[in-house]
Amino acid sequence: MSETVRRTAAELAEALAAGDVTSTDLTEAHLDRIEAVDGAVHAFLHVDRDGALAQAAESDARRSRGEARGVLDGVPIAVKDVLTTRGLPTTCGSRILEGWVPPYDATVVTRLRDAGLPILGKTNMDEFAMGSSTEHSAYGPTRNPWDLDRIPGGSGGGSAAAVAAFEAPLAIGTDTGGSIRQPGAVTGTVGVKPTYGGVSRYGLVALANSLDQAGPVTRTVLDAAMLHDVIGGHDPRDSTSIQQEWPSFTEAARAGAAGDMTGVRVGVITELAGDGWQRGVMARFDESVELLVRAGAEVVEVSCPSFVHALATYYLILPAEASSNLAKFDAMRYGLRVVPEGDPSAEEVMRATRDAGFGDEVKRRIILGTYALSSGYYDAYYGQAQKIRTLISRDFDAAFAQVDVLVSPTAPTTAFRLGEKLDDPMAMYLNDLATIPANLAGVPGISIPNGLAEEDGLPSGFQVLAPALADDRVYRVGAALEALHTAAWGGPLLDKAPELAGAATPEGSR
Ligand code: GLN
Repeated sequence: MSETVRRTAAELAEALAAGDVTSTDLTEAHLDRIEAVDGAVHAFLHVDRDGALAQAAESDARRSRGEARGVLDGVPIAVKDVLTTRGLPTTCGSRILEGWVPPYDATVVTRLRDAGLPILGKTNMDEFAMGSSTEHSAYGPTRNPWDLDRIPGGSGGGSAAAVAAFEAPLAIGTDTGGSIRQPGAVTGTVGVKPTYGGVSRYGLVALANSLDQAGPVTRTVLDAAMLHDVIGGHDPRDSTSIQQEWPSFTEAARAGAAGDMTGVRVGVITELAGDGWQRGVMARFDESVELLVRAGAEVVEVSCPSFVHALATYYLILPAEASSNLAKFDAMRYGLRVVPEGDPSAEEVMRATRDAGFGDEVKRRIILGTYALSSGYYDAYYGQAQKIRTLISRDFDAAFAQVDVLVSPTAPTTAFRLGEKLDDPMAMYLNDLATIPANLAGVPGISIPNGLAEEDGLPSGFQVLAPALADDRVYRVGAALEALHTAAWGGPLLDKAPELAGAATPEGSR
């Protein structure tokens, strides 16, 4: 593996600024790495070699004129296939959008282009972002670079695996119930779900509008902060976008990296631990809490009693919103059209197309959502779920009156084996136990690598949650814990991951 691809985005940005490398070098190195290992990992659905190299050449030309557009100008990135990209296919991991090439860019993508980041390609995902393993992709699963027989988390397993396998220094994910943070946890990468409304949803193909949020997928907290500074901020095209000035997250991460937690009040969430949580995941979590204490944090236990209902609440609200969002895939407007024999009516074309175009999990959720919203059941299910959602927000309010941040393990277990939970939707849903409350309340959260569980040697994640709008806190505390970890482990966790050399090509790594 070339040393270039092992460097963080912040390091690559520095090398570019110093004139030690060109964006073309960096972009080529990552494209070569993709070629070498993606046959085995399958993090990408589309690789845009020509486009990325053309963008890199433009970046190099700008830089040589002294006109770099920002620190990340020239640093390549991968984008989850749920964000529209002009001229590049966008499938959302679904057959129903196979071959669809959007005529416009999502705002997040526009901001990446404006800041000069070459786009390497689009990453694999569970169909319409429904899942925790990326096995629900219509184009085949992504594999976890730590163990190719295991899942990389989901729904953004492609983005997390691309970053963990050094195929991209940066990626964009989306998090509706944990799809940035849980893949981060099980691949040993960093993932951030920003405050709801902090990053534009324009051009993000909606799973559940009131929960979806795009965010950074990286190898370090500083890289995530730098990327958030690029993609975040008000967008008049998204009516839920927050209109305010945000602080520099890069500065927050740099401030945290000193590792000093003096005076920071940390709440450990009582409900997000206990039975059903993997022993090694809990052991690593307890050690990290101990590190925070030694660094000066005041740690208390905080109860959020309504969190035990978060999963049930989410699986009413999400399918309700999703069933309505997915109604637009009607064989008329986008992508696939299946025309049955004879002289079919429009309704028959729709039915045949949706039958062939949607996978089982998508159909399951459409049925659930349609049921929960139907007139006789609306109050009993959807209405009740909205009330519990309010109680969950109140739990957060009460907790944040006592502490600055809340913490928990990001996911209850390490990466499971491919196929292990595919036939058991409930077991799959339980992966998001700890991540879902933040989406229901709109608060920001980060997952950072938290060491390897003793029993299986696989990565676990540490989650930090902050009040809405206080995203800077997740960067400050995340960077502090990352610095303490790096000192304790003698380097980044991903140094312990297998090389994947020659996993896909006989001639080995490049
Ligand atoms: N795994 C969760 C689900 O299946 C979260 C999905 C997401 O965040 N996009 O709904």
